[in-house]
Amino acid sequence: MFPDRWFNLERYIVAIWLIPLLVFIGAYLVNIVYISVFYHRALAHGAITLRPWLRWFVIRSGVWLTGIDPKAWACMHRTHHVESDTERDPHSPVHYGIFGTFIGQLRSYEKNLVGLIIGRKQYTDVVADMDFPVSWIFRKKLWFLPYLIHVCVATGLWYWLKNPWVSGAYFIGMMSHPVQGWLVNAFGHAIGYRNFNLTDNSRNNTLVAWATLGEGFQNNHHHDPGSAKFSVKFWEIDMGYWICCVFRLFGLIKFGGSAAASGK
Ligand SMILES: [Zn+2]
Ligand SMILES: [Zn+2]
Repeated sequence: MFPDRWFNLERYIVAIWLIPLLVFIGAYLVNIVYISVFYHRALAHGAITLRPWLRWFVIRSGVWLTGIDPKAWACMHRTHHVESDTERDPHSPVHYGIFGTFIGQLRSYEKNLVGLIIGRKQYTDVVADMDFPVSWIFRKKLWFLPYLIHVCVATGLWYWLKNPWVSGAYFIGMMSHPVQGWLVNAFGHAIGYRNFNLTDNSRNNTLVAWATLGEGFQNNHHHDPGSAKFSVKFWEIDMGYWICCVFRLFGLIKFGGSAAASGK
């Protein structure tokens, strides 16, 4: 009924575009959900509280999935709130520039990680309320293990599915966190509108917010760091908050938590 080439075209679209796109979105979401919902809203600010078993799981699995230590990330992020856009801000585009923020944020994260490992008070005081250590893979200088695992999974997918596009999509999606962080840290403090006249340079960047589950609403977030909801106006879309609502529906989290961790 249909010429054979139609089926080839269909197979081509599914194999080269649709499946890799879905795999990329899935891997991208794993990273941004871990960072935005678990590391940021839960661990750094206490805006939501995870069920104890989920918190235990997030602290251990987050390192392997994102390659980022939750305690070092929270330490850097809390400092960002206290020192927003001053010279001591770990990743302000006001000082690093938009593109310089990409490297600046990686160097700052590393400084926080090393500072915590060697026990420098300047860093340990910031996360004194966190009852878990920096992951052993960083303490043992095995930071590359999560990346090695992702390389192995991507290679395995290529071999198993005979489809390099799927394995490439998986790998790029799993490695997307520095770009996600850069979008928020650079554009969220440089380009966008403000709902609140704060002393920092925080902005609400709608495009970045859509790409990062609401993290682009930095001005709203800096106004009220203890809130799980980063949107303020009815037309601002904070998908991270929607995910929190779904998690709450399933009894995985509750809203609110430690005031000490709010970052105010
Ligand atoms: Zn910020
Ligand atoms: Zn924050």
